[in-house]
Amino acid sequence: MSLEQDINSKKDLLEKALSNAKDIKDINSIKIEYLKKYVKSLYSELKSASVEEKKVLGKVINEFKNFAQAKIAEAEEKFKSQKAATKYDVSIFKDNIAFGSKHPLIKLYKKIEEVFVGMGFSVVQGPEIELDKYNFEKLNLPPHHPARDMQDTFYISAPNVLLRSHTSSVQIRTMEKMKPPVQIISPGTVYRVDDIDPQHTPMFYQVEGLMVAENISFANLKAVLIRFLKEVFGSETDVRFRPTYDPYTVASAAIGMSCTKCGKKGCRTCGGTGWITVLGSGMVHPNVLEGVGYDSKKYTGFAFGLGLNRLALAYYGLGEIRKLYENDISLWKQI
Ligand SMILES: [Zn+2]
Repeated sequence: MSLEQDINSKKDLLEKALSNAKDIKDINSIKIEYLKKYVKSLYSELKSASVEEKKVLGKVINEFKNFAQAKIAEAEEKFKSQKAATKYDVSIFKDNIAFGSKHPLIKLYKKIEEVFVGMGFSVVQGPEIELDKYNFEKLNLPPHHPARDMQDTFYISAPNVLLRSHTSSVQIRTMEKMKPPVQIISPGTVYRVDDIDPQHTPMFYQVEGLMVAENISFANLKAVLIRFLKEVFGSETDVRFRPTYDPYTVASAAIGMSCTKCGKKGCRTCGGTGWITVLGSGMVHPNVLEGVGYDSKKYTGFAFGLGLNRLALAYYGLGEIRKLYENDISLWKQI
């Protein structure tokens, strides 16, 4: 191969190398390779050439040098302008950025969780799409039981697959998996066919709890739930138990606490009664215990459930459940 042919093929190689270059570092290596090393080798070959050859070759070498310099400069420019276009300063700090915080429902839930975990309860989660047997049947609510109407829900595939209407289903699933003692809370999203109004939304959050072991009595239920309400709402909170009906428990009690707004004097929040009902509770029905394979003569237990949204109204002094979903920043800043 003549020197001229060699130089021409080097031009092709140079263009190829430049088009493959990924950054300015690659360009610098190309510069060293072609403009320094290669040109130097060409000049050293020139030394041994005749005067006539020197004239011709000198011209070819210079032409190569100019060609390479122009191509390399063009590539350098391309990388420099790309860098300028993507350049930004990560250290710029603007003091008008508002930082987010946890949603008030989550904040309240975390407080509730902390109190129950402090009393030895574990947190258990379960599926939101549930089978009829876990949502109703095993909770002493067979098909056509009138109390099912109180918890009408949405069906994925009627009659057996539905959106859970309470997190009690998690309690059944847990009892099926483990032997007593059981001491859990089950928080989560639940669904009911309710129209949206100040007190209702078709989706809301519940925290339910269950404690089953030997010798668990109503006294344990009272002790745990009074402590819970006093820890969350303050030690001055009064708590009352009133008999109610729930197919899942017997005896059942609706738990009220003194109104957080008026302190039992009577106001709009408590409907003038001075009390707010915040929890449903009761001793687990023996049918439920037998249904999961527990000996109801040996084991007893209590269960309770609260609507987190309702409790949040009392806790934050809000008038409407809808406020919790409206994303009204000026409201969140106040509470
Ligand atoms: Zn009140």
